Amino acid sequence: PTAPQQHTFQAEVRQLLDIVIHSLYTDKEIFVRELVSNASDALEKMRLKELTEAEVFEKGKTLDITITTDKEAKTLTIADSGIGMTEAELVQNLGTIAHSGTKAFLKAMKEKGDAGPEVIGQFGVGFYSAFMAADKVEVFTRSWEPGAPGLKWESDGQGGYTIEPAEDVARGSKMVLHLKDDEFADKVRVEALLKKYSNFVSFPILLDGERVNTVEAIWLKSKSEVTTEEYSAFYKFIAHAWDEPFYTMHFSADAPLTINSLLFVPGENNERFGMGQMEPGVALYCKKVLIDPKPKELLPDWLRFLRGVIDSADLPLNISRESMQDSALIRKLNQLITKRFLKFLDKQANDEPEKFREFHEKFSRFLKEGIATSYEHKEALAALIRFESSMTDAGKLTSFKDYLSRAKDGQETIYYLTGTSREVIESGPYLEAFKARGLEVAFFTDAVDEYVLQALTEFSGKKLVAADRADIELEDLADDSEKLSEAESSALSEWLAGKLTDRVSGVSIGKRLVESPAVALTSQDSLNPQMRAMMKSMGQ
Ligand code: ADP
Ligand code: MG
Repeated sequence: PTAPQQHTFQAEVRQLLDIVIHSLYTDKEIFVRELVSNASDALEKMRLKELTEAEVFEKGKTLDITITTDKEAKTLTIADSGIGMTEAELVQNLGTIAHSGTKAFLKAMKEKGDAGPEVIGQFGVGFYSAFMAADKVEVFTRSWEPGAPGLKWESDGQGGYTIEPAEDVARGSKMVLHLKDDEFADKVRVEALLKKYSNFVSFPILLDGERVNTVEAIWLKSKSEVTTEEYSAFYKFIAHAWDEPFYTMHFSADAPLTINSLLFVPGENNERFGMGQMEPGVALYCKKVLIDPKPKELLPDWLRFLRGVIDSADLPLNISRESMQDSALIRKLNQLITKRFLKFLDKQANDEPEKFREFHEKFSRFLKEGIATSYEHKEALAALIRFESSMTDAGKLTSFKDYLSRAKDGQETIYYLTGTSREVIESGPYLEAFKARGLEVAFFTDAVDEYVLQALTEFSGKKLVAADRADIELEDLADDSEKLSEAESSALSEWLAGKLTDRVSGVSIGKRLVESPAVALTSQDSLNPQMRAMMKSMGQ
């Protein structure tokens, strides 16, 4: 027989394993869910292979997960009849870091300096979590590809691993965990964990020969039949998450399409912490059969933070991922669900403004991205945007709708100013003319706002106009103070223009100022200061 081949782990994996083994004592149990979810993924992929590949090793084999506990040997074995792995896949998948959550975890660790259990709780660390409970892991695997050999991967999680040929390996993967202590070799303990984390796995899970999971498509049930706990458990399962869902939206429709859908807004927006772009996470089902766990076209990109399931009985079961892209049906689903979700948010905003405010704080960047990229949803999205204004107290938020309810008769414009903070905006010279005329000015302080407002252009038919543009015509103020004569005015502007030749394109006498003697304004066709700063920061 061939001698085991030695491999070393990629540096990041070694770093991760070091943390997993030495610093994470709490929440050890999560490894069960990680390994079962990998088994479930492998089975799901196998189900697709059976449909699409002409030749498959051990075709028709039952797709399930078999778990065995052995107290005497202090082992826990998790086996699946999924796609298995070739040698190259073993090296790639169990020797480097593929899992996006794991990458995010390492990054968060670097930033925080220490491993709080809440950090691992948030991400999970995929396969390598096995080493939280085991000091040796053996993986027996055989790929679905005809002719692929049986293989054994083995590691103590220290610096490397070995791969060698193995006899009598069935299709799929079998993870044998040699446990540090026998806690997880206890059937009752493992059963409780499977019920807690893996109840929604859609393949049978057998623990020591007995079926443990109850595979329920809870999105097909009616709202009144599902408890908050069930929603939460399902969210954690489908999103691979450890937090609680922030919003849960469960709805069904019969026309124009038959839809059963269960969508979750996660408890946290990881993109806020520089974790990189999230992948879309709403799975597409047709009558309980998974079509695609992460379809890209099902929802607009800016809804990538949503997790959950959309099940439509109208889909052809054999719809391929390629054909989804240009499917009119998918486009229709996309439209419909996006509209429903925006309506849902609007209702939340009305019913529970405080909670919505928290949502807005965490997720408004996505709504703003939607304004800039989804023309057809612009108006509904803009209605959800909150901001401070010259008529709110500091820290209090308002909306475009409320702005318009306060607007003066005949006011055709929504005025706004952008800046890094409310204080910065208020200390500028632009506000006073509007205040003096009782006109409200919306304040936008997020770095992306300038860009978003330019994309929005109007709300409810009223134009959005930056209050620092030079071409704004404001009505005269009743005013009995002393004024310069026309001759004096033009002499003054000529003199100023002469002094400032290189710095301004023109000087004119205006009626915008109440207290300040002069103000710098952006001419109609030049970039405003925020845009200039943005271009500069992009190196242009
Ligand atoms: P993730 O599941 O997010 O990809 P993991 O660290 O959990 O990350 O797993 C890494 C990779 O190892 C998986 O993407 C998969 O390719 C492979 N893998 C893990 N477990 C199995 C399994 N039981 N069968 C087949 N492949 C597996
Ligand atoms: Mg995984």
